[in-house]
Amino acid sequence: MTDEVAELRALLAASKRAVVFTGAGISTESGIPDFRSPTGMWAKVKPIMYQDYVSSAAWRAEAWKRKFEHEHTMRAAEPNRGHRAVARLVREGRVNAVITQNIDGLHQASGIPERQIIELHGNSTYAHCLDCAERYEIDDLRVAWQRDGVVHDCLKCDGLIKTATISFGQSMPEHQMIRAREETLAADLFIVLGSSLVVYPAAGFPEVAKRKGATLVIVNNEPTGLDEIADLVIHQGIGDVMGGAVGVN
Ligand code: NAD
Ligand code: ZN
Repeated sequence: MTDEVAELRALLAASKRAVVFTGAGISTESGIPDFRSPTGMWAKVKPIMYQDYVSSAAWRAEAWKRKFEHEHTMRAAEPNRGHRAVARLVREGRVNAVITQNIDGLHQASGIPERQIIELHGNSTYAHCLDCAERYEIDDLRVAWQRDGVVHDCLKCDGLIKTATISFGQSMPEHQMIRAREETLAADLFIVLGSSLVVYPAAGFPEVAKRKGATLVIVNNEPTGLDEIADLVIHQGIGDVMGGAVGVN
């Protein structure tokens, strides 16, 4: 165990109420590319803005094409050592909530109860109507898309159907933002795992935690803009760091 991992282990042991905050980096070891690593998605395609999605059938078609083309990667992904370590911390009552920017559902798949996961950017494993919130399963939408070449509008209200994710330009989910803030304010230890910390308002939570007096830990392969204010920064892979600190293989 490196000195840094030992330090993280000691911080976890001393904490009464920790929060884990995750980004795309925790899921790369499960085979899902992140955005901003040198090999990330960002280098290949730019995300589709919410305004473009709602105002243009062509952008919606492009969004669904990308979704159905990339879906198998996400579907095949399983929780990795980092997810398992976080799940163990939750199970042991050392971590009260996991605030995630991820949309892959891997924290749920690792066994963390839904009520302890706060999804700031929604979830791409299902879809819903933007007007009436009716839920639609991706498998059903794919059948129609393959047959008719489009994803149709909502059967109930004619509204637009979109994956249940928060796109750039879309307003943040109010309830989740409130919960994330409450958990952040109550935390004595705040651990960031695999986020470049450039997407706001999500990236504001580590700052709030630090200002409120929590110990801030950042585990990320590359430097982030908040490394300077963090109490412990570990530039290593999340699986090894968290697995080592928590004792999970
Ligand atoms: P990001 O891509 O901006 O940053 C990820 C960071 O994780 C990078 O700085 C990278 O160096 C680091 N990293 C990658 N693998 C790592 C590993 N194994 N160990 C340690 N560090 C590692 O991700 P972000 O900050 O979460 O912002 C991207 C946005 O894109 C988020 O809003 C998220 O919703 C979305 N997104 C989600 C997924 C997913 O659900 N898995 C995947 C791609 C993008
Ligand atoms: Zn509807």
